[in-house]
Amino acid sequence: MRVDLHSHSTASDGTLSPTELVERALSREVDVLALTDHDSVDGLLEAKQKAETSSLNFIAGIELSVTWEKRTLHIVGLNIDSSSQLLLDGIAQLKEKRAARTKRIAQKLIRAGAGEAVELAFEAATPEKLTRTHFARSLVACGFGKHMGDAFNRYLSKGKSAYVRGEWASLEQSCEWINQSGGLAVIAHPHRYKLTRSWARKMLGSFKNNGGSAVEVVCGSSTDDRVRYWARQAADHGLMASVGSDFHSTENSWIDLGRLRSLPHFSEPVWHQWPQLLQKSG
Ligand code: AMP
Ligand code: MN
Ligand code: MN
Ligand code: MN
Repeated sequence: MRVDLHSHSTASDGTLSPTELVERALSREVDVLALTDHDSVDGLLEAKQKAETSSLNFIAGIELSVTWEKRTLHIVGLNIDSSSQLLLDGIAQLKEKRAARTKRIAQKLIRAGAGEAVELAFEAATPEKLTRTHFARSLVACGFGKHMGDAFNRYLSKGKSAYVRGEWASLEQSCEWINQSGGLAVIAHPHRYKLTRSWARKMLGSFKNNGGSAVEVVCGSSTDDRVRYWARQAADHGLMASVGSDFHSTENSWIDLGRLRSLPHFSEPVWHQWPQLLQKSG
């Protein structure tokens, strides 16, 4: 079964509409897809409706921005109820925080001489939706970077001229919002936080204590060693395992939809929690 539980659409920083994303998943023979836009549930209805008339099992998801120990973590919520008031209130708070940060990033980019790219980014999305991905795309389009990674390296990454630290939800809040909406909380792309082994344990311990359920053991940019490492860490903390490509676009993606390594045999797949939802796969 081909499972991909982490992807983005135009509701956040992906380039495909929810409908196009579902179409692409079908063409890549994905059996189970979760749409997990940054701090937004706005694309879920469209994707769900598109998937309903197809062979795809669709999981409603979200990727919440979290500040933990002065770091940014991403917590994916899977099989959420996107009409949960607590979750919607949390999303509204995050959108306010994002809009405020967007304005500060814009000011810094203007000061760095990239005002043209700021204008283009503001045409692409509202301030409450704008991510650094939108800024990076606009920077590249205006010649301020050769590619996305270059734009991040020159302006947007930590320590660079237009970097603004996000002040997001707490780990406790993010897990509570997801759990109260009936979903399962998953630590997204754990290797990207560049944690030492002891910090990794601290993160997973804290996540588990706050009601977290799983670790994204297989991600788009995973190697075999990383998969084994995070699978072991997850199992040691009594956490299940998830897999997700973090697909954003057909050009600039870590990997295409549904093209992921398998989980080790000892991992407990998070999707085993939803047998009733995966009936299309038999
Ligand atoms: P934000 O939530 O506004 O801080 O934006 C975070 C998003 O930026 C991530 O979800 C990625 O899609 C993207 N991103 C972060 N670092 C990089 C990078 N080095 N290259 C390309 N995209 C990146
Ligand atoms: Mn993104
Ligand atoms: Mn992420
Ligand atoms: Mn993502």
